[in-house]
Amino acid sequence: MHRPIIDYVLCNNCTTCTELCLYKAIYIDSIDGYVKIDYAKCKNCGICIRICPYGAIRYSHNKNQWVPTTSSIIRAD
Ligand code: SF4
Ligand code: SF4
Repeated sequence: MHRPIIDYVLCNNCTTCTELCLYKAIYIDSIDGYVKIDYAKCKNCGICIRICPYGAIRYSHNKNQWVPTTSSIIRAD
């Protein structure tokens, strides 16, 4: 199943998606500061994909494609 994923190279942490997700599924990780999607809450509505001003969210079959760490961003696919 495809899920929305965040491309951390394009994301600038504007937090628009955290405010507009109707299901409160996008949050700021208090440990590393990156915006992340809680897939247990996400309903796959696609709104975040349409509203991200930087085109940083898209559908993927691999929800672990981008893995941010505190020091770098690793592309895991
Ligand atoms: S709206 Fe886009 S650029 Fe802004 S925090 Fe969300 S994913 Fe990042
Ligand atoms: S697809 Fe919908 S429910 Fe899932 S994170 Fe994006 S806006 Fe929220």
